[in-house]
Amino acid sequence: MDVVLTGDRPTGRLHIGHYVGSLRRRVEMQNSGKYKDIYVFMADAQALTDNADNPDKVRKNITEVALDYLACGIDPKKSTIFIQSQIPELCELSFYYMNLVTVSRLQRNPTVKSEIQMRGFKSSIPVGFFTYPISQTADITAFKANIVPVGEDQLPMLEQAREIVRSFNQIYAPVLVEPEAVLPDNKQCMRLPGLDGAAKMSKSLGNCIYLADSSNDIKKKVQSMFTDPLHLHVEDPGHLENNTVFTYLDAFCKDEHFAAFLPEYANLDELKAHYTRGGLGDGKVKKFLNEIMQAELKPIRERREELAKDLGYIYQILREGTEKAEAVAAQTLDEVKSAMKINYFKDNNL
Ligand code: ATP
Ligand code: MG
Repeated sequence: MDVVLTGDRPTGRLHIGHYVGSLRRRVEMQNSGKYKDIYVFMADAQALTDNADNPDKVRKNITEVALDYLACGIDPKKSTIFIQSQIPELCELSFYYMNLVTVSRLQRNPTVKSEIQMRGFKSSIPVGFFTYPISQTADITAFKANIVPVGEDQLPMLEQAREIVRSFNQIYAPVLVEPEAVLPDNKQCMRLPGLDGAAKMSKSLGNCIYLADSSNDIKKKVQSMFTDPLHLHVEDPGHLENNTVFTYLDAFCKDEHFAAFLPEYANLDELKAHYTRGGLGDGKVKKFLNEIMQAELKPIRERREELAKDLGYIYQILREGTEKAEAVAAQTLDEVKSAMKINYFKDNNL
C-alpha cells in the first residue's frame, strides 16, 4: 500500500504556492483514506543548510509551519507530523547514501543550481546545502514512501532519490522503495509565480501571499500585482501570458466564484475573452481575485488563530509524531545497515 511523504523548510510561514503546489493535495490524500501512511515533516536540518547563522529563524518557524499545516486540514490523527532534526537516523542514512552520488551529479541538479544562484552563494556554497538532495533522499526512503506530492521545482530531487535507491538496491539488497513525484493537476499550480511576477513564489524571495496574511495585507498585495504592461487603457486588448493576476485566477478560481462575486461572467474563459478583446480593466479583475483569495484564506486564517491559542497542544502533536516516525526510520536504518554488512553486533558474526 502507498506511503505518502512531504516536507517543508521552516524558513518562514507557508504561502499560497505551498498550498496549491503540495499542501492542498496532501490534505485530499489524507482524507481519502486510501493511503497506508501519510508523513508530513518540517525540514529544519535542511533549512539550516542555508541558514546556519540564523538558528532563531528556523526555530521560530517550526511553530508557524505546524500552525499552517493544522489550519489547512492536516490532521494529526490521520497523518504523522514530525521534525527532521530530531530523527538522527536520517543523518546516518544520508551519510551512507553520499557514497552513491558523485559531485558532478549534484552540480548538474538544476534546482540546486538555480537555488545557489538565487541565494548568491557564488563559490562559497555550504557543503550541507550542496548535498541536500541526498538528505532529502534519506527523508523519503527512511519511511519507504513511494508517493511525494510536490511542486515542479522538486522533480530533480525525486530523480536523484530514484537514482540513489536503484544504486543501493542493486549493490546491496532490495531494501529501499523508489519514490514518485505527484504534481498538481493544474499547470499553474506546479510553480506558482511570485507577486512580483518572478518565476516562483518563494519565502526566500519575499514575494508571497502567506496563508496567515490579514485580510488587509491580502488586499494590498493583490492590488500591487503585475498584470500586462501593454494594457494601458481599459479599451486596449489585454494579454494573458505572464499576467500574474490571471495565473492566480487559473490556480484558484472556480465557476462558483463567478456566481458569488462577478455574476456578469459565467466562467474564467468568458472573463479571459473579454480581457483579450479589450474593454476590461485590471482593477476589476484584481477586485475579483481579491474576493477569491479572501474567501479561500479566511477559514484557514481563523482556524490558525484558534490553534495559536494552545501551543502546548502543537508541541505535543510534534513530539508524538516525531517519536512515531523515529521508530519507522530506525527499522529502515537497521535493514540498510544489514544490507551494507555493517550490522556487526546485531548478527554477532564478525
Ligand atoms: P525556500 O525559499 O526557503 O526554499 P520555498 O518557498 O521554496 O522556501 P519549500 O519549503 O522549499 O518552500 O517548499 C516546500 C514545498 O512547496 C515543495 O514541495 C515545493 O515544491 C512546494 N512549493 C514551494 N513553492 C512553490 C510554488 N511557488 N509553487 C508550487 N509549489 C511550491
Ligand atoms: Mg524551496
